[in-house]
Amino acid sequence: MNPSKDCHATTDLGLTWRNTFAGLGEDFYTRVSPRPLPDPYWVAHSASLARELGLTSFWQQSDAWLQALSGNRAVAGAEPLASVYSGHQFGVWAGQLGDGRAILLGQTDGGQELQLKGAGLTPYSRMADGRAVLRSTVREFLCSEAMHGLGIPTTRALCVTGSDAPVYRETAETAAVLTRLAPSFVRFGHFEHFSARGQIEQLRTLADYVIDQHYPQCRGDDTSGGNAYAALLQAVSRRTAEALAQWQAVGFCHGVMNTDNMSILGLTIDYGPFQFLDAYQPGHICNHSDTQGRYAFNRQPNVAYWNLYCLAQALLPLIEEQSHALAALEPFKTVFLQEFESRMRAKLGLLDSAATDDRALVEDLLGLLARSGTDYTIFWRRLSHSVGSGEVTPVRDLFLDAAGFDGWWLRYTERIGAQSPEQLSQVMLSTNPKFVLRNHLAELAIQAARKKDFAPIASLLEVLETPFDEHPAFEHYADFPPDWAHSIEISCSS
Ligand code: AMP
Ligand code: MG
Repeated sequence: MNPSKDCHATTDLGLTWRNTFAGLGEDFYTRVSPRPLPDPYWVAHSASLARELGLTSFWQQSDAWLQALSGNRAVAGAEPLASVYSGHQFGVWAGQLGDGRAILLGQTDGGQELQLKGAGLTPYSRMADGRAVLRSTVREFLCSEAMHGLGIPTTRALCVTGSDAPVYRETAETAAVLTRLAPSFVRFGHFEHFSARGQIEQLRTLADYVIDQHYPQCRGDDTSGGNAYAALLQAVSRRTAEALAQWQAVGFCHGVMNTDNMSILGLTIDYGPFQFLDAYQPGHICNHSDTQGRYAFNRQPNVAYWNLYCLAQALLPLIEEQSHALAALEPFKTVFLQEFESRMRAKLGLLDSAATDDRALVEDLLGLLARSGTDYTIFWRRLSHSVGSGEVTPVRDLFLDAAGFDGWWLRYTERIGAQSPEQLSQVMLSTNPKFVLRNHLAELAIQAARKKDFAPIASLLEVLETPFDEHPAFEHYADFPPDWAHSIEISCSS
């Protein structure tokens, strides 16, 4: 990363701090300090991310860290700010939004931006309180690290600190702050913001910044007619397609794919009412507030494309030719299909070159899973074991239509042919996770956390960081969801 020339670096908390985003100028943000929270305490942390950041093992014992990440101590060298963006929410232009409760402290060594989510009011808080509740913060913490463990592009979560300060949602809850990191928190909505206001110079400044920092290859990319902004759009389309393919393959439903929740780096960002599918229901709606099902599981790829279209419109003043903007969106469809198919083939252990019937094999399987409402994660894991052991009953038992499954199984075993079952099984077990962050698992960890028992968060984190391992001590985390899981309602309230 090339810190801009007007950006100095200072050391505090054992890290060197700079803030290249602050160098963009005050059209892009408002300087704002995190607000204090009374008597903060540690709720959870990711030791592996801390190691990646080069933090000493003592940071968790450090009161300076606890206070800094709860908004009670200024970090020397950080230039805290809240950025401004706009966006389309549920398909409707929402106008100006912005970081209403996330405050960017700056970049740490290695170029990761660090944000405190829930750190208090900003000029963009609108009618809300700038806070985040323990419940939603624990969900975002665990899911960020679960996605990373699955190999899916995501913002990361370093830790959660809590306070008994009340925060009012449907009921009184308590406050928490999530410390999250990403190479950039720039969203599609940042571009929409300046474009909608006709602030074309700011739009260009932002696009140049993102290209210089994250997509330098877009300069001099002849495939986009030599226009770096068209090349940027194309690169974002590809990354978004790759991320979406991974979501669909693993059964992840984001829940609020508004354009302000779309990362310019193709990262999964802003975990709210997300859900990993339990039963495979293609039309599953995980967001209780999404009455129309706009963000239903099987609509996600189309929504991503719609969102990219919004980004294309925002970038049009820089791309100039509408045909170039549309052409830059084109790769989304091909990359998504290619990536999705290759991931589904990998889940089936089909690592040789694609056969003509593979697509039908996948589609027919998904049809069977949907008709039986089969548990998605358990199916793939059992299949991976069955291929190795030759014992098909545990998989067959997951289907109401046993005859339908038998027909599919016959085609599948013919397709895998003479490959070594043990080898195949090993490959599949490293592709099909045993553990995903099911709603009820998060819910149980939250209930314990409310009673100040943070151990369940730590053990869940342990399995979710390496979700392809067996973790025999945590077998219960790989079980079917209990009946009460169906009654969990997760809305946008966070
Ligand atoms: P979200 O649905 O979480 O992506 O949030 C949409 C917009 O509302 C963003 O601009 C958020 O910063 C803002 N927002 C959400 N919750 C709060 C809150 N409690 N306080 C201030 N702003 C919020
Ligand atoms: Mg958001």
